[in-house]
Amino acid sequence: MNRYDGVKVLLTGAASGIGRATAIRLATEGAAVYAVDISEKGLAETAGAVTGPGTVTTRPVDVTDEDAVIAAVADAAATLGGIDVLVNVAGVHKTTPIETLTVADLNRLFSVNLVGTALFCRESLKHLPDRTGVIVNTASLSATQGNPFMTAYSASKGAVLAFSLSLAAELAARRIRVVPISPGAVDTPLTRASDMFPPGLDLNYFTKIRSYYGAADPEMIAAAIAFAGSSDAAYYTGADFRVDGGAHT
Ligand code: NAD
Repeated sequence: MNRYDGVKVLLTGAASGIGRATAIRLATEGAAVYAVDISEKGLAETAGAVTGPGTVTTRPVDVTDEDAVIAAVADAAATLGGIDVLVNVAGVHKTTPIETLTVADLNRLFSVNLVGTALFCRESLKHLPDRTGVIVNTASLSATQGNPFMTAYSASKGAVLAFSLSLAAELAARRIRVVPISPGAVDTPLTRASDMFPPGLDLNYFTKIRSYYGAADPEMIAAAIAFAGSSDAAYYTGADFRVDGGAHT
């Protein structure tokens, strides 16, 4: 018996990093996964990496496009025969000193990280069942700990965390759990991107984390997401689920 046998999961950000690892992990545990991302190519690679016994269906979606999200969630519910678990992983990052922070940076970070997450929550709630439905939203260690040169990213993740805590309270009457998960440093294309550590960035903070546990593999975060979305976490809701190798101690 697999933990996710018969469980229908809608997952965003599935084309790379933590999202790809989550698609693979949940399908390994038996889930029927409906995977969306803006990258069609990355989605195809994810689908190719899934070995089952679960399944993965993919659809290219820009999470900031309201009409596209409405259509995708409706199609996910029709294709899977419902939605039991929503996992929001899609996100973007930006590292920049405050002096060069632009309104365009702020708008992009908030529209992908917060608005995209909120839209998927709103639409999926038309389908998530009372008492067993679950939402897992990817926040970040940055939501609750200062990170140099990440003011805007951190603010957008703080918004995801605050949104999720209030949504958990709002949905308590339906017994739909909402779990914000906060990874620390994870080794993914996002953290390997050339603009992640621009010249002159003070790396002390990152070095400190990595000197203890190192950066996580995406599979470590996928395993935590799999727990949060499962009935093993039946009493876990409305609390920041920090998976950061002790970086917050
Ligand atoms: P990643 O860049 O490997 O994956 C992010 C995915 O989001 C990509 O597949 C990308 O195409 C997708 N995406 C971006 N914009 C989109 C849009 N508008 N519509 C649809 N999809 C879009 O990054 P990752 O490291 O796997 O990060 C996944 C999540 O985890 C993000 O929300 C990130 O902020 C968060 N996170 C990452 C770390 C880390 O250290 N890597 C730490 C804490 C939180």
